[in-house]
Amino acid sequence: MRWLIAALLLLLAAPATAEKRIALTFDDVPRDRGAFFTPDERTIRLIAGLHEAGVRQAAFYIVPGQIGHDDGAGGEERIKAYVAAGHVIADHSFTHPHLSGMTAADYLADVDKAEAWLKGREGRRPWFRYPFLDEGQEDKAKRDAVRAGLQARGLHNGYATVDGSDWNIESLTADAVKAGKKVDMAGLRDLYVSTMVGAADFADQLSRKTWGRQPAQVIVLHETDIAALFIVDLVRAFRADGWAIITADEAYADPIAKLAPDVPSANGTLLELAAWEKGVPKPRWYERNDMTLANRLFAERVLHEAPQPPAH
Ligand SMILES: [Zn+2]
Repeated sequence: MRWLIAALLLLLAAPATAEKRIALTFDDVPRDRGAFFTPDERTIRLIAGLHEAGVRQAAFYIVPGQIGHDDGAGGEERIKAYVAAGHVIADHSFTHPHLSGMTAADYLADVDKAEAWLKGREGRRPWFRYPFLDEGQEDKAKRDAVRAGLQARGLHNGYATVDGSDWNIESLTADAVKAGKKVDMAGLRDLYVSTMVGAADFADQLSRKTWGRQPAQVIVLHETDIAALFIVDLVRAFRADGWAIITADEAYADPIAKLAPDVPSANGTLLELAAWEKGVPKPRWYERNDMTLANRLFAERVLHEAPQPPAH
């Protein structure tokens, strides 16, 4: 009996075992029409899917400069609908520029323009997500100027730790539909789901090597038609793989939110940068973010096209 109690105590004292937690975020809102839906239809489906899947709170990163350009001019209403459904909104810049392509001052002015739209709105959070996850690349002075500028504005880095380049699958799908190709919808669903779950598991492994623990992960997705189609399948697959879906608020309360890695080129997920800073050996990014591989998988599994010979 005593050994049993001792074993139980040991079990309780052990650090939380395998704990995979992930928050969902959607970028570039409001996005243009995709392959299947009008923007309004997409929003209705995405909200319904998140509700059906039991996702209490996702974050939607807004590009206010896109409002009115989103093929139907209903962008503002769609954003309000996400908030009314319990989700939160944050800053993804006004015009979605590359920091590496402009000055820190111009960049921060663009952030301010987005903040002017966001501030005071219901559901708004003080988070900023760098477009293209571009934090200035090799230019450390610029990187630091923007980091300081965001801090002075009370904005926190709306980082991601998990990236599966969902935008590329969306774009390949739209191109295929436009070209009149036959899209295998079950194949598309499986590719999307397996790629996003694979990206999360890659991040889980890399996190353990980098931080020796399992932080709350944040996946960057986009407001796409494939999300509207397959979000329920995606959440189901995450749970079957041992993941708990948490709120964006909970994810950004993780201690990693305080990190600002100092690496030779700042571009990518917070996890990649932190792993690089700590000298964790490559690969530090998920293989399906390589477009050659991603495009080949799409051709094979969604279009059932024979693999192309390598280009010279
Ligand atoms: Zn973006």
